[in-house]
Amino acid sequence: MVKTDFLIIGGGPAGLSAAIEAGKRGVKTLIIDEGVHLGGQLLKQTHKFFGHEGFYASVRGFEIAKKLTSQLNENVSIMEQTTITGIYEDIITAYNRLEDSVFEIKADFILIAVGASERFIPFENNHLPGVYGAGAVQTLMNQFKVLPGKRVLMVGSGNIGLIVSYQLLQAGAKVKAIVEISNRVGGYDVHARKIKRLGVPILLNHTIKKAIGEDRVEGAVIVQVDSNMNPLEGTEREFAVDVICIATGLIPSIELAAMAHVKLEYIPQLGGYVPYRDNEMRTNVKNIFVAGDLAGIEEATTAMIEGKIAGLAVSRELTGVDVQSEIEKMQRELVEFRSGPFSEKVRNGLERFFTQKTMNYSTKMQENEGPIGKIRPIIECFENIPCNPCQTSCPTGAITVAENINSLPIIDYSKCIGCGICAMKCPGLAIFMIQENYLPERDLVAIPYEFLPIPEKGQKVVALDQEGHEVCEATVEKVTKSPNKTHLVYISVPEGLSKTVRAFRLPEQSESVVCRCEEISVDQIEKAIEEGYTDYEELRRYLRLGMGPCGGRTCRAIAIAILAKKTGRKIDQISLNTFRPPIMPVKFEAIVRGEMKHEK
Ligand code: SF4
Ligand code: SF4
Repeated sequence: MVKTDFLIIGGGPAGLSAAIEAGKRGVKTLIIDEGVHLGGQLLKQTHKFFGHEGFYASVRGFEIAKKLTSQLNENVSIMEQTTITGIYEDIITAYNRLEDSVFEIKADFILIAVGASERFIPFENNHLPGVYGAGAVQTLMNQFKVLPGKRVLMVGSGNIGLIVSYQLLQAGAKVKAIVEISNRVGGYDVHARKIKRLGVPILLNHTIKKAIGEDRVEGAVIVQVDSNMNPLEGTEREFAVDVICIATGLIPSIELAAMAHVKLEYIPQLGGYVPYRDNEMRTNVKNIFVAGDLAGIEEATTAMIEGKIAGLAVSRELTGVDVQSEIEKMQRELVEFRSGPFSEKVRNGLERFFTQKTMNYSTKMQENEGPIGKIRPIIECFENIPCNPCQTSCPTGAITVAENINSLPIIDYSKCIGCGICAMKCPGLAIFMIQENYLPERDLVAIPYEFLPIPEKGQKVVALDQEGHEVCEATVEKVTKSPNKTHLVYISVPEGLSKTVRAFRLPEQSESVVCRCEEISVDQIEKAIEEGYTDYEELRRYLRLGMGPCGGRTCRAIAIAILAKKTGRKIDQISLNTFRPPIMPVKFEAIVRGEMKHEK
């Protein structure tokens, strides 16, 4: 049997934050987590977080997991790949997957921070392979580097649907559309803008009707809905997709809490059934606390704060240490984070447990766009969300988010030196640098860019507007690379378009493949010739052209023709390569076996 003072079930943002606080105060703590590594959902998050610096704003989720884990001290033990299977009157049972064994745990206090599971929706053929939850897509793509498909229909436009759509685009998939059953986008406007300007339509008042396919998803039928969310016959549309990604919300994972006799209440604003708890995260069972998504579906930042409160409260119970002022400080943080319009639902839900305080925030918007002709930021962040890295990153204090973090950012252009740091730090990618008349009859726009390959100076790109429509050809003038991987790509556009252009795409790559063994395209060969590789043997060595199993039988003639055309020579003026045996792939094993036979 394992004995501990404080058992934390779940090593996500809430559990880790609780363990840090308890460990700091000398509490013998054990974290049990199902995953291979600690971090929970943070491990899948490749986007930068909102909030403020104190809770890792502008840091990517998987980096936050590392930062939290690194703060655990010697008082905290960890058991990964382990699941709590039951909570009984006086004992807890666990199963360790690595050792394939069940064991018992005794703990004085327990924090259940197991998060939530995905909410699925019924539709015809939703059992087909290719229908995924958004969490599963993130796990495959961001943790295991497996792209689940190439053409995706996203169902749901909450923050998860928007973020996962963006990540799918980054990974090289095409997101055909996002369908949203309600009449408004569920997630942050800045997330939605990121998606729209890359050409992904968000279809409001639409839902999925059925998946098409025999053995796997080959398409999806969507349908428009009326104001009561009932399908409107005759409005069906079909998309050719191989993935249908469901991002229609989360449900608190209440199983362990229920087993431990924690009182549950059905509060739709918090995600469904949630455990009762007070404002120190204590349930009706005196030694059991809850935190994070189990206590109500919210953001990772509030999970971290709730985890800290629970860790502090348990430390007080076990050591008698005075933590009142720290708990109150964290409670004020929660009040501030939850005072914006996006948290209204959560506030209303929590009213069932205790009175919710709120704080005023400013709705004042930027009134001017700064001095024409000067390089300067334009902030397109028009919603009151809890976020302020634009303010805290600015080296000259030119950006102010009023006292409450939900207020809108305002720029004092007289203080701005045009460095672009705010644009690289903004988690919403909502800041663009612009300059009119950067060159004669050309304006400059800097786009925050998180895709590969990063374009190079002088490269031509296709400039897009807020809706992803093509606007003009643009030229890359400069690239400022950032360690946080939000690079700033400065492109010049025709005069007058600096307030229209908000994204770009690279020109379509030619898909004409010359060497099928090594997957080398016409474009790659032409580029290599432009770089100075004007001999066929050089091209082979540089690109591995013709070095696959066919030994150049298929591609040699085409490549030499391209080389001749591009360099203005005749075919017979181009030297062939050196021909060496074997002319077809032969296994080493066959060579050795043959030699042995011969020797016999
Ligand atoms: S461009 Fe630089 S100086 Fe200007 S507001 Fe942004 S961070 Fe501040
Ligand atoms: S502009 Fe400021 S407040 Fe808005 S998303 Fe960016 S960093 Fe956050």
